[in-house]
Amino acid sequence: MTEKTVLVTGAGGFIGHHLVRKLVARGYFVRGADIKLPEFEDSAAHEFLQVDLRDYANCRRATQGVDEIYHLAADMGGIGYITTSHAGITLNNTLINAHTVRAASDTGVKKLLFSSSACIYPQYLQKQPDVTPLREDSAFPADPEEGYGLEKLFMEKLCQYAHEDWNIETRVVRFHNVYGPLGTYDGGREKAPAAICRKIAKAEPGDTIEVWGDGKQTRSFMYIDDCVEGIYRIMQSDYAAPLNLGSDELVTIDGLVDLVSDIARKPVVKRHALSRPQGVRGRNSDNSRLREVLGWAPGTTLQQGLTPTYRWIAEQCADSRLAEHTIMAAE
Ligand code: NAD
Repeated sequence: MTEKTVLVTGAGGFIGHHLVRKLVARGYFVRGADIKLPEFEDSAAHEFLQVDLRDYANCRRATQGVDEIYHLAADMGGIGYITTSHAGITLNNTLINAHTVRAASDTGVKKLLFSSSACIYPQYLQKQPDVTPLREDSAFPADPEEGYGLEKLFMEKLCQYAHEDWNIETRVVRFHNVYGPLGTYDGGREKAPAAICRKIAKAEPGDTIEVWGDGKQTRSFMYIDDCVEGIYRIMQSDYAAPLNLGSDELVTIDGLVDLVSDIARKPVVKRHALSRPQGVRGRNSDNSRLREVLGWAPGTTLQQGLTPTYRWIAEQCADSRLAEHTIMAAE
């Protein structure tokens, strides 16, 4: 049997980088494509194209000779970034997605998996912290997150149309907040778990840290190992309609801070920044359909997943402090 060639777009990013490692370990020939190289360690991909996927010609080059595509490239970030960059995010992701799916069809790729998001779900269903978990069939009537969520919903439909009209197999995965080691933890694009780990790693015991919103907003967070396992299983399945991929362990943001503070063994005082963006009030994943389709669902608890995540972020923060001191000592 010849080994399959797969393309991972967004291979320089958090989930893409972990996914490349998994696919290489499973014996695939992996081509990564991204506008940037992975930030924290070298890619395991056999080939890595550092290209801008907003350009059709680059998408065509990346998809040539490929059997399957895991399409993860996107302009994205945490709530602070996606609520203040509507035009850029919408334009960039429209170009990346439309050109990738067009190129995949033009070059005869058999299957494409698209990384969608829980941000496609209507905001009117997410107004309470004790939210009803979101089911796949509640996406319409639509009222998604402005910009980022709206564009993801559009691409979900484009995948469906490409499947119907161009005969390419498509898979659509709605990720719910993913976290873990090697994820962005600083600079404005980081998500809540990474930001909280960083703030606590940098704090002294008893220090005050800023928490966005009133801390009562709820979310579920999926550990990266569950995420890449789920992506792989969904690609192997014969299920073409959108599927949630997330944890269903609901936690308040204050609860998340308490958990990290326990793991770090560092008590902290919370100062709630009410003017900062907090996104929807409550969001959780309903995994019933995922379980029906795969006979599997993410199982890593927050406690289990945050422990290595905190350790990794604390090490990064310690290294950057050490580097700062070394530079100062040399001056
Ligand atoms: P990430 O930002 O770490 O990775 C995305 C990658 O896309 C980055 O490396 C970036 O450089 C690349 N990219 C952006 N513009 C590009 C361009 N013009 N050309 C080529 N590459 C480009 O994000 P991630 O957390 O790894 O997310 C992967 C996918 O999953 C994204 O599509 C994202 O929208 C989706 N998603 C992630 C989460 C999450 O919690 N991390 C939640 C929902 C959906």
